Amino acid sequence: MTSAADSALRCFADAVGAAHVVTDRPALEAAGTATFAWSQRVLAVVRPGDRREVQECVRIANRYRVTLYPVSSGRNWGFGSSVPTTDGAVLLHLGRMNRILELNETLAYATIEPGVTQGQLFEHLREHHPGLWIDATASSPDCSLVGNVMERGIGFTPYADHVAQVCALEVVLPTGQCIETGFAHIPGAKAARVFSSGVGPQLDGLFIQSGFGIVTRLTLWLMPAPRRFLACYFNLAKDGDLEPMVDAIRVLRLHGTLRSPVNLYNDCSVLSSICQYPWGEAAGTTPLPGEVLDAMKRTWDMGAWHGSLGLYGTDTEVRQRRRLIRRSFRPLVRRLNFLDDRKIRLARLLDAPYRTVRGVSPVALLEHTMPGYGLLKGIPTDQALSSAYWRKKERPPPAMDPGRDRCGQIWCTPISPLEGRHLRSVVGIATRVLPAYGFEPIISMRIVTERAVHCTVAVAYDRDVTGQDESALLCYAELLARLAESGYYPYRIGVQSMPPLHGAEGDRACFLRTLKQTVDPNNILAPGRYL
Ligand SMILES: Cc1cc2nc3c(=O)[nH]c(=O)nc-3n(C[C@H](O)[C@H](O)[C@H](O)COP(=O)(O)OP(=O)(O)OC[C@H]3O[C@@H](n4cnc5c(N)ncnc54)[C@H](O)[C@@H]3O)c2cc1C
Repeated sequence: MTSAADSALRCFADAVGAAHVVTDRPALEAAGTATFAWSQRVLAVVRPGDRREVQECVRIANRYRVTLYPVSSGRNWGFGSSVPTTDGAVLLHLGRMNRILELNETLAYATIEPGVTQGQLFEHLREHHPGLWIDATASSPDCSLVGNVMERGIGFTPYADHVAQVCALEVVLPTGQCIETGFAHIPGAKAARVFSSGVGPQLDGLFIQSGFGIVTRLTLWLMPAPRRFLACYFNLAKDGDLEPMVDAIRVLRLHGTLRSPVNLYNDCSVLSSICQYPWGEAAGTTPLPGEVLDAMKRTWDMGAWHGSLGLYGTDTEVRQRRRLIRRSFRPLVRRLNFLDDRKIRLARLLDAPYRTVRGVSPVALLEHTMPGYGLLKGIPTDQALSSAYWRKKERPPPAMDPGRDRCGQIWCTPISPLEGRHLRSVVGIATRVLPAYGFEPIISMRIVTERAVHCTVAVAYDRDVTGQDESALLCYAELLARLAESGYYPYRIGVQSMPPLHGAEGDRACFLRTLKQTVDPNNILAPGRYL
């Protein structure tokens, strides 16, 4: 360690308390390890307790020219976990800053610090404000809400577009100054927490997917619990049915019949979330042989694609939308079901007699649906994390941590226009590229807005199998390149792709670099992150 780094660490300890500067080797190794073969040496993990301590850390970093990489909970699995963009950085872990600063029930918002997790806010609301819902991701309940916003993350309810639901960011700049966005910078502004743009240039976007500042507080809008909630599940018999289905969804979305996300999962995606790779049946080979996949689909009574969505509103609104969805989806689907709390209670009541007569348990079938059902209601769960263990030979442990357990997971997240023909292209590319490297095409899509689709292709593997780390990165690189060739670019990238291949040249890149040099003259904050 250089003497400057040594001095910086002593100053960090003075600023945040020695107990909050972590330098032991296993902790640093964990902090610098992703769910794929990408790691960086982390100098220390520094855990400030409030905004002033963050400012002091930034001043120290400038004084000693030490790089800071902020994370809120550092569980950005599939995109790099907490691994910084450069070697030798100090990981500024904001997990201790986990206060819910304000909860306004009338206007349905919470002002939170970056360490607040989705599980924490969910439990707080359940206990004190049951009329309000959060929007959760399928990742762990221990994931932060702010870190997810910083990556433009998405969820499952009508509030799924997370960036669209925040305002009044408090940001520590790389110089140590602190600003607030929207009206929040004006003392006494009454609409500070309810109107994101304020007046003049809107600054929020500058701090998302960038290295322009450290967000130390923001306001998150919450969803009033609807009078009625109904989940809709459907599946499609064959791949070819995806295209007309997507076109039907677009019509419903654009015309306002559907006002919430629609989720689509291919067969491999569903299987990876309900079971593990059938090593025995596949006789140890990869990727999954077609006949084994077909047999598994018969066992689980599956189609080629499965879909889910939530309906939210009054009794009348939900009833009307269900009727319109039925009319539109029926000719296209293999199965179409609606599920609500009443049906679930009934299934539990009838479980024993039904099992005796028909030999199958409705509750057992429901249990596979429940995590997804809960997510449609903003209930965080860690059950989807088991999909990261798809290729592992051991069962997922009760407390899952894909990074620690050497699960291989790389996400590729192209955005497509909401047209069946485009999704056919994206699916075609993924189903050609992944098997060529020995992986299953695990594909899901979330239709969060009216005109575009968030696609996710997972490269899932076991990091303990020799050679898989290398194949997975090559596979990901080819997938990204093939998608880009066809005009499909990711909305979010992993640390291994930073700075992004596309957009490194030209006037836009020059403008961003000028901004970065201006706000961060010593380049101490997350260098290379998305720029
Ligand atoms: C099975 C599975 C399912 C998943 N499902 C989803 C899903 O449904 N939706 C989804 O969006 N993601 C999903 N993910 C991906 C990921 O786990 C989540 O997005 C998670 O919320 C990100 O981790 P985090 O909240 O700990 O963010 P962090 O790791 O804390 O932050 C992410 C990045 O944002 C920046 N950052 C963080 N905090 C700040 C700050 N305060 N100021 C400035 N910059 C900051 C940093 O560069 C950091 O690297 C899933 C992952 C898995 C394995």
